[in-house]
Amino acid sequence: MQIFQNISKLRETLLAFQQKSQKIGFVPTMGALHQGHLSLIKQAKAENDVVVCSIYVNPTQFNNPDDLAKYPRLLESDAEMLRSVGCDILFAPADTEMYPNPAKIKFDFGFLETTMEGKFRPGHFNGVALVVSKLFHIVMPHKAYFGQKDLQQYLVIKQLTNDLSFPIEIVRCQIVREENGLAMSSRNKRLSSEQIQIASNIYKALQMAEKMLKTHTSEQIQSQIEIFFSEIKEIELEYFEIADAYTLEGIADLQKHSQPKALCIAAFVGDVRLIDNLWVEN
Ligand code: AMP
Repeated sequence: MQIFQNISKLRETLLAFQQKSQKIGFVPTMGALHQGHLSLIKQAKAENDVVVCSIYVNPTQFNNPDDLAKYPRLLESDAEMLRSVGCDILFAPADTEMYPNPAKIKFDFGFLETTMEGKFRPGHFNGVALVVSKLFHIVMPHKAYFGQKDLQQYLVIKQLTNDLSFPIEIVRCQIVREENGLAMSSRNKRLSSEQIQIASNIYKALQMAEKMLKTHTSEQIQSQIEIFFSEIKEIELEYFEIADAYTLEGIADLQKHSQPKALCIAAFVGDVRLIDNLWVEN
């Protein structure tokens, strides 16, 4: 695996692949890799000639400086994991490479960026769209892989790709879970083993809500989920939403809604904020 910190050196190398019409698959990450990330790399590997993974803890998408400071940084072991699944290129730039001068551009994704995560993390999706745009321009991949774990991020990236005419196919990848159902996340490294068990209730709640979709109203499901979490003192529910899976708009009548639905949760376990969702086809 080749490792680059420098944009121009990476571009030079990728140009050689592009000139041979080789397909480039790209997986952007913030590192502290786990099996969820590796599943994206494996999928990219199966569908492309060359796989590029980026590891960059992007400061512009953190609205909470403490969260940015505490974000795990494990470049050496990450590189080992990437090698083990055959990743070809790792791009791990420094802040000075990505933001030589402060960025000023602003995106507006309308409702998509003000609902759910957007409500609780102002500016987050602007930072995500900014760094992903930069990375797309740098890597110029054919396909880019995003986890459904961050459903709203995937939808924002789809919109970004559409609006800026990036010639890139955006692939939505399944959520990889721990045996107890907890969605894998770099933040899980900050949970104790007891907290990991408790956090599995997030997935249980999503499954419970899914079972109720055909027979209950949104309000009834909402209140059941609130009751469920009120009985678990170690988890603080931030939001539970039932929404259209493509627009994230609320759904007036669950039984009549013919598009896929998304059940989404954000919750705190201790001081660790976790998100999870289920994508429900009809
Ligand atoms: P992150 O490093 O957290 O920014 O994540 C990098 C990519 O990995 C994003 O597209 C995430 O949605 C994806 N990802 C994170 N956790 C999982 C998971 N448990 N299963 C599948 N993909 C994931």
